[in-house]
Amino acid sequence: MICDNLAAIRQQIEQAAIQCGRPADAIRLLAVSKRMPLEAVVEAAQCGQLLFGENYLQDALTKIEQADKGLHFHFIGHLQSNKTRQAAEFFQMIETVDRIKIARLLDKHAAHLGKKLDILIQVNVGREQQKSGVLPDKALDLLTQAGQLENLRVRGLMTMPPYGQDSEASRPWFVRLRQLAEQAAAQHLFFDNKQVELSMGMSGDFMVAIEEGATLIRVGTAIFGSRP
Ligand SMILES: *Cc1c(COP(=O)(O)O)cnc(C)c1O
Repeated sequence: MICDNLAAIRQQIEQAAIQCGRPADAIRLLAVSKRMPLEAVVEAAQCGQLLFGENYLQDALTKIEQADKGLHFHFIGHLQSNKTRQAAEFFQMIETVDRIKIARLLDKHAAHLGKKLDILIQVNVGREQQKSGVLPDKALDLLTQAGQLENLRVRGLMTMPPYGQDSEASRPWFVRLRQLAEQAAAQHLFFDNKQVELSMGMSGDFMVAIEEGATLIRVGTAIFGSRP
């Protein structure tokens, strides 16, 4: 089932890309395996899915330890200070940096590990109180500060827009994130300002996100089914 789902989603990605004149390989699919067992990750890997997203550090580490070393994991959950060391060590990218304190800790740990760590800045585009993410009007400040940390590579922005009834409800928020990224790129605030990552779009709205410029889409239930 996971393989069928993956094939269907890859087809939809291609279709959305063609429709808006983007190359399909400009969009990477992150399979969100949070709360799913290792077997689900293994099954997805067997049908060619090598990139995964995880929200809960402890749960993720058990899977990462047991999974094939060729798989890549992005951290997409809320990151606490005391988990930054392990996050820096075991993930290829941290997508949810939303305060300078966390960026500084990740930078310190990356230095100790002798690696350069890719990160995204998470933006709370809808200014929702219960949600993580830097507020849009504080994002450029945070990008400026995080960009000065030697062992981090700020690759782009990530967002989880307010919940909407249908996929079109997400579009204005995706546009907002893209515009913010364009503004930041014009000020050279990213590691590579010609290739800025936009992580946006989930099971219900990834087609719209691709139309609005997503380079990373984070899809869970549409691949793995509903979570236990
Ligand atoms: C769970 C989660 C997803 C995937 O959501 P689905 O609706 O299951 O596709 C994407 N991004 C984040 C940050 C998540 O926590």
